[in-house]
Formats: sequence, C-alpha cells, structure tokens
Amino acid sequence: MTADSLTFRAFAVSRHRLAYDGAGVTTLVGGYGCPLACRYCINSVCADPSFRPRTYTVSALFDTVRIDDLYFTATGGGVTFGGGEPLLQAPFIAAFIRYAREQGVTWRFNLETSLAVPSALFDALVPEGITAEECPIDEFIVDVKDMDPTIYERYTGQPSDRMRRNLTRLAALCPDRVTVRVPFIPGYNTAADGDRSEEILRGMGFVRIERFTYITDRNKDAR
Ligand code: SF4
Repeated sequence: MTADSLTFRAFAVSRHRLAYDGAGVTTLVGGYGCPLACRYCINSVCADPSFRPRTYTVSALFDTVRIDDLYFTATGGGVTFGGGEPLLQAPFIAAFIRYAREQGVTWRFNLETSLAVPSALFDALVPEGITAEECPIDEFIVDVKDMDPTIYERYTGQPSDRMRRNLTRLAALCPDRVTVRVPFIPGYNTAADGDRSEEILRGMGFVRIERFTYITDRNKDAR
C-alpha cells in the first residue's frame, strides 16, 4: 500500500497559528466528521451532511503544508491535526507523519482530540507497546469535557468509555506530552465538577491541565 492510497477529508487548513495549537507557528488541519454531538460545538460544519470537505492524499497535504517549512523550522512549530475528530482518520495521520519524516522535516506534530474513538483507531496512530520516544505525536491537546460519566454523556450524547480508555493509554505512555483541557460548560457542569475532573486527571499523572470556559449564547453577553 502506498501512502497515497489513503486520503484525508478536511474541512479547513488554517495557516500561521500561534500559541494555541502547540508550540511555535502551526498549521491546523481540521478533519471532517466527529462521533460526538456537543451542545456548543464550534465546528458544526462537521455534522452538516451537505458540507463538502476537501480530500487530500498524503503527498498532496504535505505539498500544501510545507509552504510554511521555514516558519515551522524557525519557531519549533509544525502541523496540528484537529477537527472535528482527527482520530477518525488516524491511519492517514500515521502515514502522513511517516512520509513527512522520510522527507527529512523536523516539524512537530500535534493532535487536538476528544479521544472519543474506538481503540482500533487510537491504536492505529499510537500502537500498543511503543515507547514514548516512538510515539509519532509530540503534543496531545485533549478536551475531556468532564470526567463525570453522567455529565459527559449529557453534554456529548455519547458514553465516556472510549475517551477514558484512550486517556488511560496516554497516561501510561507519555503524560508529560499531554495538555488536558477541562472546560466549564454553562448549564452542564459547575466549578466544583471541574475541580473533581482536575483531581482525577492529576491522579492519573497529568500535569498540564487548562481550565477555561466555553463561550456560549448563555454567557457571551456577560463578557
Ligand atoms: S468534539 Fe469538538 S467537533 Fe466534536 S461535537 Fe464536540 S465540539 Fe464539535
């Protein structure tokens, strides 16, 4: 199988991002589609069946993003796969990173994910048994929503089992490469719920935990 037998469906490729999607200057590649149905989703095109995502082969996406090679190299940045849920297309991401490394680039590769995918997809990018040094992702940015299963399911429409399984894999493999985002979700959780989530995550070994508030129609006028 050649690298170009896999394709990636993207709803956006966004260049010159700074400080939010990983270190340095990054290009965000937004994967189309998501298994969750978050009430305050900011990328609702991912659930819009009439939206036509753009399709890339590995070499086509590489040719698209390498225009910023100098920025990536000079700032220690690289490519961030986000979404939607990028892990729905995990085999492509694994093939893309292998291909990019074969071309000799030293970019960083980041993943912004909910981790809410079947274990086979997660393992296609982060195979069981690898060491942290062998992990192709330099930084994981994980939005866990809330660690309480009831709150999680009420907000996302899905059970939290998949997220928890994959998060446990990351905790065992490379907790120091993971930023965990714990949102305050108006109408769904409280600050005390966030404290409980943070305590669970610190107990799992994560140290980079970001607390923030989703901006929704409930609270945007109060800003
Ligand atoms: S995980 Fe992200 S893209 Fe998916 S439904 Fe939730 S907010 Fe939207």
